[in-house]
Amino acid sequence: MKPDFDIGIIGGGPAGSSIAAYLAKAGVSCVVFERELFPRPHVGESLVPSSTRVFNELGFIDQMEEAKFPHKYGAVWTAKDQGKAYVHEFTEISPDCHAEVRFEEREQPGVNKNYTYHVDRGKFDLLLLQHAHKLGAMVYEGVKVAAVDFSPAQPIVRFKMGHQEMGVSVRMVVDASGRQTFLGNQLKLKVNDPIFDQYAIHSWFGGFDRKALSKSDLQGDYIYIHFLPMSNSWMWQIPITEEVTSIGVVTQKKNFAGSKQDRERFFWDSVATRPILDEALRRSNRLRNFKEEGDYSYAMTQICGDRFLMVGDAGRFVDPIFSTGVSIALNTSRFAHRDILRALESNNFSRESFKTFETTISRGTKNWYDFIRVYYRLNVLFTFFITDKRYRYDVLQLLQGDVYDEEQPPVLAKMQAMVSQVEQNPKHVWHDLLNDLTADVFCPRF
Ligand SMILES: Cc1cc2nc3c(=O)[nH]c(=O)nc-3n(C[C@H](O)[C@H](O)[C@H](O)COP(=O)(O)OP(=O)(O)OC[C@H]3O[C@@H](n4cnc5c(N)ncnc54)[C@H](O)[C@@H]3O)c2cc1C
Repeated sequence: MKPDFDIGIIGGGPAGSSIAAYLAKAGVSCVVFERELFPRPHVGESLVPSSTRVFNELGFIDQMEEAKFPHKYGAVWTAKDQGKAYVHEFTEISPDCHAEVRFEEREQPGVNKNYTYHVDRGKFDLLLLQHAHKLGAMVYEGVKVAAVDFSPAQPIVRFKMGHQEMGVSVRMVVDASGRQTFLGNQLKLKVNDPIFDQYAIHSWFGGFDRKALSKSDLQGDYIYIHFLPMSNSWMWQIPITEEVTSIGVVTQKKNFAGSKQDRERFFWDSVATRPILDEALRRSNRLRNFKEEGDYSYAMTQICGDRFLMVGDAGRFVDPIFSTGVSIALNTSRFAHRDILRALESNNFSRESFKTFETTISRGTKNWYDFIRVYYRLNVLFTFFITDKRYRYDVLQLLQGDVYDEEQPPVLAKMQAMVSQVEQNPKHVWHDLLNDLTADVFCPRF
């Protein structure tokens, strides 16, 4: 019997709307269930350039320009002077650890711009979902999926409309429900990450001086990552419009206990560890209530199976230090839609049909995870690699979001080897700078 739709998609964030757009563009009948009414606010506002490849393929790039999202040409990392010069056998890094990259330094296949974007997620997510709809996807907003029944040959997606319980039959389900991890929970596939138990508190500020810590006029619209002088803690600075800047503090769970007021105080105490930023932020106006995100890193024991797969955060979340989440959401959809089209053609929706997707994503997320792990273990190593011209280009490749093609990028292997050296040598000049994250214990497949 013909199902109601070929593909049922849970969630209309960047992962759900991009997979819907890819499939609808290829003439596949698909339906997106989104529990919220868009626009809705969302964390995750700074993109990396590999997103542009997807916007180009989906014919969405003109809308990105028309929306006038701020162009993001690069990134800056700043740290408080810890009174040490990080000398290494090859180079000396300035004590304030200021590092920057511009994306134009490395050409990226399929990416014809030397910048990416910062986005107001309310607006961006709405535009992308509308784009999927224009391409032919059916979109139900304000509809929360309650369950997926995999017992019939054609799965049934169950939800309520008003008081009425309803079901829609599909040939397969794509879970794009973000950190709600809908199928991960239903099928009990989720594994929480015991190491990256990061929390964040954030808001929007008006009139913040974005150049408070910049070293050049070019850097006003970059993303800034400000290291805080507390273990595994940092702060983001992301332009949203000319006037509005998103500021967030990320830290470990143990620093984040207490009441809401305690946590707001924690935000201000954290910012106060960087006096110049503190002063600039206190001169600006907070435009929204503070919002918190908690305990967000996890993996799945499998990201696809018979008649389902997961894209974006629904499949895995790795700490957002390199602003990768939206790019991963878009690129998992890019890889997934190819396997789905083949499955539709052969009418074979077994896990085996999604092998290429599974292998590619497994490789990409492992590379991300390793990169982030090395970064947290020894912050200064990242600064060292990015400022050393032998490695800069290869690190830039990772920062641009190109992580899916190689089993292990050589620069990553080099970084890992150096961390081991420092760990094993208590006299190493960087030994005291090692952080306490030793994430080797958490190596799931995805
Ligand atoms: C502190 C923090 C900072 C971050 N910073 C960045 C950054 O700078 N850059 C970046 O790229 N990423 C960042 N991210 C990550 C980014 O937020 C996510 O990776 C991105 O939003 C993933 O997109 P998605 O479509 O998978 O999920 P989402 O954007 O979360 O979309 C999922 C959608 O599914 C819907 N949904 C959930 N359950 C159901 C259901 N049962 N039925 C119907 N609909 C449902 C939700 O309403 C939601 O709209 C950050 C994350 C955190 C926690």
